[in-house]
Amino acid sequence: MENESEFPEQYEKLLKKIEALEKALGLHEVDDIIKEKIGVKQEISEDTITEDDLQIKVINEIVISPKAYLKLAKHALTYANENIPKKDWVEIIGLLTGGIKQEDTPLEQIFVEDYWPVDQGDAVSVEIVDQQIFTEIFHKKNDEHFIIGWAHSHPSYTPFLSDDDFGTHLRYQTFWNKSIAIVLDPLMISPKSFGVGVFRIHKDKESYYELSSEVDGLSSEAGYESINLFMKNKYETDS
Ligand SMILES: [Zn+2]
Repeated sequence: MENESEFPEQYEKLLKKIEALEKALGLHEVDDIIKEKIGVKQEISEDTITEDDLQIKVINEIVISPKAYLKLAKHALTYANENIPKKDWVEIIGLLTGGIKQEDTPLEQIFVEDYWPVDQGDAVSVEIVDQQIFTEIFHKKNDEHFIIGWAHSHPSYTPFLSDDDFGTHLRYQTFWNKSIAIVLDPLMISPKSFGVGVFRIHKDKESYYELSSEVDGLSSEAGYESINLFMKNKYETDS
């Protein structure tokens, strides 16, 4: 008989940890910020698209939802920001869920629907041991998407894949060869930059490349403003 407790213990623990972190970090608050600051995205009907629109339309390979981006940024900034002494800054890590559109066409796009915090500290890692079980766990959380990769932070040392990151990501790509790694430098977030790099390893497994990305319907100015809002709330409440 199938039931919830049939997941191996380590996955139950992971799920509990994610739930506890989401609560402790107040990650649900990003929904309010999105409603207030970003508003409901207007659906554009095809009739309103002009030829000019089509000419300037750039297809980015990765589309990150504002929710996923703000949750990741909030997790990262909680553990590394200008109000904390630099020596105490630590990395954070989490999982990404989402999906893929127009697969294997020139218009292929991976969409990152959500970010799930897993850990923070000096030696953070999250290994996918069994893609199937991970995916089932997220179905249990009423998320119809699958694990499309992972994200972690590089406080003040820019987004890239270190040798350790490369090794970790290689394992993600053995489960799904299109898996992505998002690296965020929370100190790089500015009105001009989301502070993220999105990476994937080449087929030869020798090197990696950066994918083009955007945050869906969000400008870097609006992203920066939203992030400032919750940083302000955090440090005004704490002091
Ligand atoms: Zn790293």
